[in-house]
Amino acid sequence: MKKTILIMLGATLLFGSCGKKDNSIEENPLIMDWNTPLETPPFEKIKPSHYLPAFTYAMKEHNKEIEEIINNKEKPGFENTIVAFDNSGEILSKVSGVFFNMTEAKTSDEMAKLEEEIGPLVAKHSDEILMNEKFFERVKKVYDNRDKENLNQEQKMLLDKIYKRFVRSGALLKKDKQEELKKINEKITTLEAKFSSNVLKETKAYMLVIDNKEDLKGLPQWLVDNANATAEENGKKGKWVFTLDNPSVFPFLQYSEKRDLREKIFKAKNNRCNNGGETDNKDIIKELVYLRAKKAELLGYKTFADYVLEERMNKTPKEVFSLLEGLLEHSIPIAERDAKQLEKLLDKDEKNAKLQAWDWTYYSEILKKQKFNFDEEQTRPYFEINNVRQGCFDVIEKLYGLNFTYRKDISVYEEDVMAFEVKNEENKTVGVLYFDPFTRNSKRGGAWCTEFRGQYIKDGKNIIPLVSVCFNYAKNSKGRTTLTAEEVSTIFHEMGHAIHCLLSNCTYKSTAGTNVPMDFVELPSQVFEHWTKQPVVLKMFAKDEKGQTIPDSLLNKIEKVGSYDVGYAMSERYAAAYLDMEYHILSSKDKIEDVNLFEKKAMEKIHLPYNIPPRYRSTYFNHVFGGEYAVGYYSYVWSEVLDADAFDAFLETGDVFNKTIADKFKNEILSKGGTDDAMTLYKNFRGKAPSIDALLRNNGIK
Ligand SMILES: [Zn+2]
Repeated sequence: MKKTILIMLGATLLFGSCGKKDNSIEENPLIMDWNTPLETPPFEKIKPSHYLPAFTYAMKEHNKEIEEIINNKEKPGFENTIVAFDNSGEILSKVSGVFFNMTEAKTSDEMAKLEEEIGPLVAKHSDEILMNEKFFERVKKVYDNRDKENLNQEQKMLLDKIYKRFVRSGALLKKDKQEELKKINEKITTLEAKFSSNVLKETKAYMLVIDNKEDLKGLPQWLVDNANATAEENGKKGKWVFTLDNPSVFPFLQYSEKRDLREKIFKAKNNRCNNGGETDNKDIIKELVYLRAKKAELLGYKTFADYVLEERMNKTPKEVFSLLEGLLEHSIPIAERDAKQLEKLLDKDEKNAKLQAWDWTYYSEILKKQKFNFDEEQTRPYFEINNVRQGCFDVIEKLYGLNFTYRKDISVYEEDVMAFEVKNEENKTVGVLYFDPFTRNSKRGGAWCTEFRGQYIKDGKNIIPLVSVCFNYAKNSKGRTTLTAEEVSTIFHEMGHAIHCLLSNCTYKSTAGTNVPMDFVELPSQVFEHWTKQPVVLKMFAKDEKGQTIPDSLLNKIEKVGSYDVGYAMSERYAAAYLDMEYHILSSKDKIEDVNLFEKKAMEKIHLPYNIPPRYRSTYFNHVFGGEYAVGYYSYVWSEVLDADAFDAFLETGDVFNKTIADKFKNEILSKGGTDDAMTLYKNFRGKAPSIDALLRNNGIK
């Protein structure tokens, strides 16, 4: 899920001064009422030049609304303050919804420039509301008197959320402490940006240049071709260049027969920003860890981890540590067992050599071929993109009763994007889905789900969500576009987020849809991936060019390969999550003398084998030091626990389409958004708290 935009929209805003009145604002297609099919954005009319005037106008309108709430003569109450605040900024949400999604899905130099200009304006607008004393006074009055308000659960959640948004931004602090916090925040932002930019610089700066064909041994032809093209781009025609970008370094480590070259590129990858000089990140890490601890202490928390986890399903560092330790206890012995098998293969190539980190994926790949006689290309002809999309829609209809109708009359922002009207079992329209499958220059990489507008109730009327899923598949302009099994899984993943948005049945913007804790938001998406591993599901849509259904022999192979080499994959990720936690349970008085030593000691605590490094080492752990995922890496692990446990509810009935379980998942989780505590929602669905057993069993461990 792409959270940034949702946060931006959820954290409604205020801004003091405004530009001069734009005469054409009434004609601005971003501002005008959308008299379009299902009130969707009129993309064909929106031009980049419309954005800035629209934002200026929208922020001004929002200011007026905020002032009205502050100046309301009535006693501050839930409706006239909290709900009024949640409803405010509607025009701004409308404009932001289009703009920030277009900067990702259909950008240009002009849009990038606009983003640089508009981004800080919107951030400032938001900050100024959160620091508005008079406004907070009203919010606090409502919060302090909450017991007298007779609120239902969703209303309680909304009040709590909005009150905490202010408090966690320092609204309760004295002026001088607020100033101190502001300075800390600014420093943190600057250091995080510097950290990321260093990682990018050192990643891009490295090249493994090969000029001897002999050194390409073992590499698949497509990788050799790509390396050849990369060499040419870098003025090294006729040679081969491998880089530290994932699509280059990972397959190199997986296939290269040259042990010395694997070692070389592996060490370069693992020592990024750990080499001294301008782009070394060690001092930045020390400073960031100190500033985050200081920030948490200022706000009254013991550590930064405590501050962050307050709003998660796992509420304390102790809970997270016990989750990770419990899993590592199982994954490390599996990895050690696998290492012995791999070492036997290595021994044939190099007598008495010790298995190193740069040997692992290479020998693992060899063993996989020996054991299963399987590679990804065998399934590809069965996964044609349109069949996969329709198959996914069919699974959703079977489980949750939603059906998707292509609407050619709904405006889209690119030719290949398709818009679908989504209806429920009662034939009521519940939303619109935009499906944007292919890669293009104007689109950022990866896959994501986002909304142009979220669901909520306005003056008694249900506002339907406009949801979008974006992918980056290479379009085959001559024939069928086919996908790997992993890519099929990604479609289901993003569609899992989409149904969380589409089935939302909530009252308030800030509690609807995917406005849930970060360690809960991946449950609907990750659980949905499980269906793509089920033979009964694959048979619904996996058909080759002649219309032949995927054969059972291939389905058997897919099932068998499923939990292969999980010990390494699990351990490296759990180790990285553990490292993230270790940094953020320090107090501002704890000094890190040496980052490498700190990391080494943390890994010793969990007895991580020498040949499994954490998935990210400290100096390039961008999730943690480059942005908003600090104390967040564990949430990927937690989501796996949740999705395995949730899917088990279906497996226990022997039917992955069991209607009773599907209804429960829809009614207790997918439609509930953030209207109740996430653990309560989960228990209401499952009848118990999640356990790690299903995850271990899926990975062949228990
Ligand atoms: Zn996701």
